[in-house]
Amino acid sequence: MIRLHVNGDLAAAAPVAPTLDQSRYLTQVMRLKVGDDLLAFNGRDGEWRCTVAEVLKKGVILLAEEQMRPQTFGPDLELIVAVVKKARVETIVEKAAELGARRVRLVLTKRTNADRIRLDRLDAIAEEAAEQTGRMDVPVVDDPVKLDAVLDGWEAGRRLMFCDETGGAPAVTALMRQSPSRTGTGDAPAKWSILIGPEGGFSPEEGERLRALPFTTAVSLGPRILRADTAAIAAMTLWQAAAGDWDR
Ligand code: SAH
Repeated sequence: MIRLHVNGDLAAAAPVAPTLDQSRYLTQVMRLKVGDDLLAFNGRDGEWRCTVAEVLKKGVILLAEEQMRPQTFGPDLELIVAVVKKARVETIVEKAAELGARRVRLVLTKRTNADRIRLDRLDAIAEEAAEQTGRMDVPVVDDPVKLDAVLDGWEAGRRLMFCDETGGAPAVTALMRQSPSRTGTGDAPAKWSILIGPEGGFSPEEGERLRALPFTTAVSLGPRILRADTAAIAAMTLWQAAAGDWDR
């Protein structure tokens, strides 16, 4: 069944107004008619079965009928990734949505080749991936900010997994065994961020600063140098398997 991310509230018998683009997709691409069903979620009220109530020129009106799933969120995992080539950033955002990252924070580092970031396009990719992957929220994508600013404003209690390709760091799985970061087992699930550097890697100064931070753990993603998108996918996969929601 079609899943649609909407902004409006979802409640019994509430009218839901998708955007014009969404309305066109529903009626012209998916050929939905009055009376047809689809699923809608808004990141707050869970997932609702809705019916097409009206098809108007200015858009479709849906009627929320029944809550099919309550609002839930995956583990508090965020991905912090240096800006790389546009196409790879788009892949990273899509995979972060499928792999359950709550947030994707773009950062500028010494060696970032700052391709122009189209945040509206990244938001659309995140939304479409969230609809496809069946999650109940859409990951937030933040505009690029300097790595130092992210580190200076670090949230208390959050841990940073620094993917360090320069060698010598422990494997991700070893790290996860050490730290109480299981989710859903009663103990407060640790909040984690994964940091991936640019194509040129982190500068020596950036590496030193990162390794010295109390909330940081440097990890290796194996003996081969991975491209940033591969590294992001690998790190999120390992984290979810070792400490996230893949064991439910
Ligand atoms: N400077 C590297 C390329 C960096 S790859 C080179 O020698 O060409 C981009 C980012 O992916 C790195 O900064 C790191 O965060 C991550 N990464 C890639 N391979 C990795 C590995 N084997 N272990 C840990 N992190 C890795």
